[in-house]
Amino acid sequence: KRKEKEMRILMVGLDNSGKTTIVLKINGEDTSVISPTLGFNIKTITYQKYTLNIWDVGGQRTIRSYWRNYFEQTDGLVWVVDSSDLRRLDDCKMELDNLLKEERLSGASLLILANKQDLKGALTPDEIAKVLNLENMDKTRHWKIVGCSAYTGEGLLEGFDWLVQDIA
Ligand code: GDP
Repeated sequence: KRKEKEMRILMVGLDNSGKTTIVLKINGEDTSVISPTLGFNIKTITYQKYTLNIWDVGGQRTIRSYWRNYFEQTDGLVWVVDSSDLRRLDDCKMELDNLLKEERLSGASLLILANKQDLKGALTPDEIAKVLNLENMDKTRHWKIVGCSAYTGEGLLEGFDWLVQDIA
């Protein structure tokens, strides 16, 4: 058991997947006016009895190589997928695979959020799991995939509840 109830959570995923909107939604803030993440936002929120330090790292191609600067002492990883962006799923898989090779992230619990489930044409979490080949994940990794919508809030609590319990 951890002594302190602070957790460091890194949110990553391609740009436009919904990272910023998800953080706002779980924190009960207005999600109608946001701009794409450049660089990163660090947000400290209280979730249940935990303090979550959420690092929302921008996903645009030119800054993806900087993600690794934020890996130290990461307890949890949230990988956000735009389930409606079929064109970029290969790119998404490649970036996730690369991230999971990182030694410093090997102990981090992994929550995959199949976001934008409110959109027609969004792939289901099962379909996303197949494309990302999650069944073949390293056996030591704790992971879960949950469908969600940052707009309606559906799935977010289920996902974050699992993550904080898994880390705690
Ligand atoms: P980020 O670049 O990963 O931080 O993504 P943003 O949070 O900036 O979201 C990118 C775009 O997707 C914005 O226009 C959001 O309003 C939109 N968006 C985010 N989450 C959802 C969702 O669950 N459903 C829908 N329909 N749009 C979403």
